[in-house]
Amino acid sequence: MKQILMEDYNVIVIGAGHAGCEAGLAAARMGEKTLMLSINLEAVAMMACNPSIGGTGKGHLVREIDALGGEMGINIDKTFIQSKMLNTAKGPAVHSLRAQADKVRYHEEMKKTIEKEKNLDLKQGEVIDLIVEEGQVRGVLLNTGAAYRAKAVIIATGTFLRGKIFIGEWSFFSGPNGLSASIELADNLKKHGIKLRRFKTGTPARILGSSLDYSKMKEQAGDEKIVPFSFMNDELECEQVSCWLTYTNNKTHQIIRDNFHRSALFGGQIEGIGPRYCPSIEDKVNRFSEKERHQTFIEPEGRSTDEMYIQGMSSSLPEDVQEAFYKTIPGLENAKISRPAYAIEYDCIDPFDLKINLESRQIKNLFCAGQFNGSSGYEEAAAQGLLAGINACLSINGKNPFVLDRSEAYIGVLIDDLVTKGTNEPYRIMTSRAEYRLVLRQDNADLRLTKRGHSLGLVNMERFAKFSTKTEQVEKEMKRLAETIVFPNQALRFMEKNVSTPLQNKISLADLLKRPEITYDKLADIDKDQPKISSHAKTQIEVQIKYEGYINKQIKQIERFKKLEGKIISQELDYSKIEGLRIEASQKLNQFKPLSLGQASRISGVSPADINVLLIYMERERRRGK
Ligand SMILES: Cc1cc2nc3c(=O)[nH]c(=O)nc-3n(C[C@H](O)[C@H](O)[C@H](O)COP(=O)(O)OP(=O)(O)OC[C@H]3O[C@@H](n4cnc5c(N)ncnc54)[C@H](O)[C@@H]3O)c2cc1C
Repeated sequence: MKQILMEDYNVIVIGAGHAGCEAGLAAARMGEKTLMLSINLEAVAMMACNPSIGGTGKGHLVREIDALGGEMGINIDKTFIQSKMLNTAKGPAVHSLRAQADKVRYHEEMKKTIEKEKNLDLKQGEVIDLIVEEGQVRGVLLNTGAAYRAKAVIIATGTFLRGKIFIGEWSFFSGPNGLSASIELADNLKKHGIKLRRFKTGTPARILGSSLDYSKMKEQAGDEKIVPFSFMNDELECEQVSCWLTYTNNKTHQIIRDNFHRSALFGGQIEGIGPRYCPSIEDKVNRFSEKERHQTFIEPEGRSTDEMYIQGMSSSLPEDVQEAFYKTIPGLENAKISRPAYAIEYDCIDPFDLKINLESRQIKNLFCAGQFNGSSGYEEAAAQGLLAGINACLSINGKNPFVLDRSEAYIGVLIDDLVTKGTNEPYRIMTSRAEYRLVLRQDNADLRLTKRGHSLGLVNMERFAKFSTKTEQVEKEMKRLAETIVFPNQALRFMEKNVSTPLQNKISLADLLKRPEITYDKLADIDKDQPKISSHAKTQIEVQIKYEGYINKQIKQIERFKKLEGKIISQELDYSKIEGLRIEASQKLNQFKPLSLGQASRISGVSPADINVLLIYMERERRRGK
């Protein structure tokens, strides 16, 4: 059948999920004529699973996306229904913002933003094939015969690619939420030499709130003081809704155990590998059989629906078993299930087949992002979408790739982990994955990244002005606090009021703020010149002063890391020619073509001894002027 040649674009994004949205907006904001395609426009920024954005590690990603000029932070600040800062009892490195989202509004607001964006077209259409000429992508073909040409294409197909739903013994090809799966593209990608593998994830049932008995649960309210995700917002107001905590029990576990044989997971129907950190309830009952109960949070899906999300209870057991085990949970005795739990299997790429700029190693100017790269989670997807969008633009303009390393951003940790270390299950970000997490805090993402977003043309004037004001405020105030001295008698009542050891000698306000019981806001009692500054600036000042010693120590570690990371390796190097390098190492290095000695050191199968051989070889070549 003859293709119908349509309009040309510079960048085409296959998918309008969390990755596709950031990729499309980034490319358009960097001035490239961009087309976003989605099988169904109802899937634009669809939250197919948990109705929340953020959490440990994920909140850091959202802040970094925001700092670089991405959209997720702004969108959740417009549509959240509850906000909580997690881990506040621990240090600032793991403080993580998490917000419950109104799913429908989250989708609507993101779709509106995309529809209004200059240079960006959003169309409903299913891509069935890539147009590839001489190893370079040149466009896409839709199942309508429409062919769109472009200089770069970004694949962000999520859990739709050869999506297959499993509920007990029954299964059928489908995307999430009953939307159609994308089958033909999967087959054609293989024809273009793209290796695909099967991953799986699962979601719990949705239950009507009116059928629940909250008197048997523990209310989980949001924080009184709401901290915005976006650095563009200083304060937010919201009539917050609550989540509810309840637990499974032995009755729940027994029903599940009695039906292990009917679970798609244990029945062997599912071949895809699932996320270790998001196990299904049958997986938990099986793996942690000694546990008497598992906690489950009942989370509202939005203000315009009575549907509740049953967190921690995803399953692929048959519907009748679901009906039975959900009703054993206190508060769910009369549960009315509006959508059954299910598992979904889908095709994704092996991230070893990607370069550090998320470009395919097989096809030039083909970029990949999101769940398609083997990650799991809205935030992980959005972060990759943003970087794929940026790098597609840089590549078509012949510019160097934009790479964030592990000491600069969680986004750097995420992408380096995927493409250098690989993953054999859906990858989820966690603070424990970041070596330099005291420096990669969520509160300073803008100080680390906004200037870089500005030089890419992604950060607009308004954001840059706000950022500059904040950095000035922080610098000026840090200096003033260090130079302002208080004397013991002056602070007597203040120390008493704050149950702090009385001063023996004069001290600067900065040193006083180092005391754990003293906060910047409390200092106002004895510091009449305290200026009015933004809440984001206050957080910055407090953390930088209170953790100064630890932060400086980590900065030293980063300097050592940068030494190896800064040793760039030529992509033309044939490692089999380097004497002293072990065969396994030279094979791995030739396969990966690492960008730097630092990246080479993280490839499994490359030992510190190999890195030493390489270092000596590079030093010798440098002296010979090569
Ligand atoms: C059942 C289920 C359970 C999940 N559980 C969890 C969990 O527990 N924890 C967690 O962190 N995350 C979970 N997720 C994952 C989370 O939803 C994804 O990580 C996130 O949505 C990935 O974003 P994405 O942009 O990569 O893909 P998606 O949000 O899936 O978007 C993909 C987009 O691609 C489009 N598309 C696909 N194929 C084509 C084509 N051929 N042509 C045109 N458009 C196409 C779709 O229309 C859609 O717009 C779950 C997802 C599902 C479905």
